[in-house]
Amino acid sequence: MKAGGLKRRVLLQGGSIALMLGVHQIARGATILAVRVWPAADYTRVTIESDARLSSQQLVVGSPPRLAVDIEGIELNNELRELVGKIKPGDPYINGLRVGQNAPNVVRIVFDLKQTVRPQVFSLAPVAAYRHRMVLDLYPEQAIDPMEALIAERLRDAPKAGGPANNNGAAVAGIAPSAPATPPGTAPAPVRPAMPAGDPLGELMAQQSMRPGPAAPAPPVVAGGDRPPAPPVLVAPAPLPPVVGTAPVRPVSPPVAAARGGATASRTDRIIIVALDPGHGGEDPGATGPSGTREKDIVLQVAFRLRDRINAGSVNGNPMRAFLTRDADFFVPLGVRVQKARRVQADLFVSIHADAFTTPAARGASVFALSQSGASSSAARWLANKENDADKVGGVNVGNHEVQVQRALLDMSTTAQINDSLKLGGAMLGEIKGIGARLHKGEVEQAGFAVLKAPDIPSVLVETAFISNPEEEANLRRVDYQESLADALMRGIQRYFAQNPPLARSRQL
Ligand SMILES: [Zn+2]
Repeated sequence: MKAGGLKRRVLLQGGSIALMLGVHQIARGATILAVRVWPAADYTRVTIESDARLSSQQLVVGSPPRLAVDIEGIELNNELRELVGKIKPGDPYINGLRVGQNAPNVVRIVFDLKQTVRPQVFSLAPVAAYRHRMVLDLYPEQAIDPMEALIAERLRDAPKAGGPANNNGAAVAGIAPSAPATPPGTAPAPVRPAMPAGDPLGELMAQQSMRPGPAAPAPPVVAGGDRPPAPPVLVAPAPLPPVVGTAPVRPVSPPVAAARGGATASRTDRIIIVALDPGHGGEDPGATGPSGTREKDIVLQVAFRLRDRINAGSVNGNPMRAFLTRDADFFVPLGVRVQKARRVQADLFVSIHADAFTTPAARGASVFALSQSGASSSAARWLANKENDADKVGGVNVGNHEVQVQRALLDMSTTAQINDSLKLGGAMLGEIKGIGARLHKGEVEQAGFAVLKAPDIPSVLVETAFISNPEEEANLRRVDYQESLADALMRGIQRYFAQNPPLARSRQL
């Protein structure tokens, strides 16, 4: 039709004009909508949210350590000025910052740092409630080793323990005390544990207790204070007999492994490590209840309560220790959660959630294991997809090599892991039922949750309740409910171990 032809020509012209305007607009600039800061020992994240994609250049300056970031195409506004006040004194990496209009359309932010950092700067496309985000992640030069952190925490809790509750102290003392737990410069933590099979935690703790004062383990980052002070001189752990003489004691060949070689399948004497994985965090709030309760806060509280129980617990006389994949409000990518648990050679992995469903009527707790072939129900598939989107919301630098390695690793799930996970999940489900909580379904469900893909660690994801249900949201906020939930999960873990005693560690990673 003639009319149609005419219309199209006009539209085409209009299209080219609009395109030119668009280019012009991008050049002229974006508007900053919000800024957020997520300080944590692992890394501090600064997020700058805007109505269009930002481009930037950054420069790391030596001493004193600073990071200058030039953001192009924007004008300094109040949102950006607020960044200055959002730096907390306890931030492990940022001392303070200055922000100013450096040139027309260029805003410069200068971060004064507490230590040299390895910045990762990347952009995220709009997702969920967020518009465009520019993310600055400040990582330490040397990544925090989860195993070292676990040891430091354990020594801090029991400074006089001097080692694990086993008889290997003397033998372990033979290991060269200077042996680093990880080669320097490996960052982030390596995928493959660099330590021998056996009881790495026990061995490392013994090593740590041998170190001279200044090298004594301290929390990797000291919260509070402007600058990390010199490592505190810890009360020396129960001193080992002084090694008189000169030559280093000959390393006694793999003490623990040797001792364990003949261990029966039902006995072991080592610390039992349970990885607890509070879902979401930082930029990813998880689900939000009708009264505004955030999933990320509730699940962290439940994880802390369960941690206390685990750290006071034991399995056949072997002490237990909880390891948290996050212990503060910051985002941990799904692959990193798995990687951390593998790094500490966790015996179990328990991811804790309290999600929303499409209808407020949905209620009840459920426990999930991994599935290699499809989900056990459409609800399970829906939840797994939702959880797997956490990386998009939380924000992952997909160009990062480490992330790619982790993704590749996530396809190595095994049938044995899933069978054990189903047993663990079943034990937990029974205990949750015991506290009078409703169950969404009476059996362990399965779906392709990315966070459950450690190939060698029985892994479950516990949906403690639906935060979208008003009554369950109210329950989740109650201390006594959280306590009984933690009790139930602890009993489930113990019941699992009673039926499936932990073995001496022998897996080859
Ligand atoms: Zn969740």
